[in-house]
Amino acid sequence: MKSKDSDYEVIITGSGVAGLTCGALLAKDGVKVLIVEKNPFVGGYCHSFKKEGFTFDLVSILLGCSEGGKIYKILKEIGAEKGLEFIRIKKYLTLHGIDDEVIEISSELIEVIENLTVMFPSDKEGIKGLFQTMDGIYKDLYIMPDSFISGLQFLSGNHLRKYGNKTYRELLDEFISNKRLKFILSSIAITFGGMTADMVSALYISNVIMTFFKEGGYLPIGGIQRLPDAVSKVFCHSGGTLIAGERVNKITIDKGMVTGIELSDGSVISTSCVVSNIDAHQTFFSLIGEKNLQDNYLEKLRLFRSSTSAFVVNLGLDLDIDNLPLSHMTLLLPAADPDELTFEVQRMINGNVSGFCIAHIPTLSDPSLAPEGKHVINLITLPSYDCNRNWTDEGNIISEKMICELERLIPKVSANIVHKSFLTPLTLEKYALNYKGACYGWSHTPAQFGMKRLQPKTPFKGLFLTGHWTVPGGGVTASMISGFMTSKIANEYLRNECGT
Ligand SMILES: Cc1cc2nc3c(=O)[nH]c(=O)nc-3n(C[C@H](O)[C@H](O)[C@H](O)COP(=O)(O)OP(=O)(O)OC[C@H]3O[C@@H](n4cnc5c(N)ncnc54)[C@H](O)[C@@H]3O)c2cc1C
Repeated sequence: MKSKDSDYEVIITGSGVAGLTCGALLAKDGVKVLIVEKNPFVGGYCHSFKKEGFTFDLVSILLGCSEGGKIYKILKEIGAEKGLEFIRIKKYLTLHGIDDEVIEISSELIEVIENLTVMFPSDKEGIKGLFQTMDGIYKDLYIMPDSFISGLQFLSGNHLRKYGNKTYRELLDEFISNKRLKFILSSIAITFGGMTADMVSALYISNVIMTFFKEGGYLPIGGIQRLPDAVSKVFCHSGGTLIAGERVNKITIDKGMVTGIELSDGSVISTSCVVSNIDAHQTFFSLIGEKNLQDNYLEKLRLFRSSTSAFVVNLGLDLDIDNLPLSHMTLLLPAADPDELTFEVQRMINGNVSGFCIAHIPTLSDPSLAPEGKHVINLITLPSYDCNRNWTDEGNIISEKMICELERLIPKVSANIVHKSFLTPLTLEKYALNYKGACYGWSHTPAQFGMKRLQPKTPFKGLFLTGHWTVPGGGVTASMISGFMTSKIANEYLRNECGT
């Protein structure tokens, strides 16, 4: 077995946005950091790929990228904010119902409240109460001081106590009586993680919806890959080392303490501190090994449920769609009330691909993602990995069904497709090695959100976690917050335990 000389104080396994954020902040503080990434590129799910002149992104929207927003604050702390240009998504969401009704949801909170109040006057007070409560949750949930001295703090505010165990549906039921209005508010939530109102945590969804309205939804000009590339550049400039295209096979532990990592070529790199940005299943069941885990931690891990995966059809379109009623996210809804919607989304999770579909059209905001006059459309459905679809054989048939649905939105679309490819849950699994191709780590049920997720500290001395399998949750913003938090914890560990 080859042993590589190492004076790395911290080794980070995986270069998702959380691992990169953590690494860049530690390197900036003068810590000797190595990041090992299995892919030849950085960013994990935060990745863009080019095909026939079209740029495709997995991630559809980033929350909080302008001054004052959470991503911006973290980028500024890293020193990467100047290398990036963001576009604010002005037209975020259009809902297309089965009854051919088209509802546009503004990106401005005041307009949303006004429009919903005009449509549902008898729910006026309920609408006001709902958004005030969601704002209360947003404010209670995170305090991110501008100085970043004390980092992210979870507070036990009133809203968190009251809604901590509730679903979004229970929150809606408390304030809203009209079924149609509940249906619209439930549909908005689906675009932020693909869960139904009666499954998703009231805290999680209130926080993302209010972050969207108060901090804005953005895209980095030129594609999502620009974000991890900018952070990685600062990491390397600050003295960090990146090994890309090399898989970590093992995190070595001796007497409950981290001693290093083993790479796929068999070489060993020693260190007393590892931060795992890799999926929690792989970290504990494969890299560390079940036999090294305490029973209570093992039991906890087994009780967690992962989030849904995705099937995405990537289309390049040679058609003028500028005058159609389309937004950055356009939802094709096969239902008209919240109970039917739950039923249809459940069918989608079980692998049924007709009916419900999300069309993500980033070129409406950033035309540079396609050749002039052309568009990128990503058709998204969110099936569970275990839904018994044979993705390899059925991928083409499923894609065609989804394109047929798209004809409802864009007449003659099929005849104007100049590029077509697709990603399945298997592709996603292979891509970033997330368990069962999960998009957001553990699913955001009330039992698995916030402090109930895995903590950055583990039962092993010198092993810490970062990313969407840990606190505070899934999505790019939360993963970057996690990277920020873990960098503080790892730094403190080095100071206290290693005297650095
Ligand atoms: C289809 C899709 C759409 C999404 N849309 C959005 C959206 O619109 N907005 C949003 O905010 N979020 C979205 N998300 C979720 C978001 O992308 C993730 O929550 C976030 O990027 C996770 O970041 P992470 O740092 O935790 O890890 P990951 O992105 O999972 O990165 C982990 C890294 O570890 C590497 N790795 C794994 N195993 C090994 C190993 N053994 N050795 C070395 N390296 C290894 C992987 O290659 C990867 O680079 C979406 C996700 C998907 C899949």
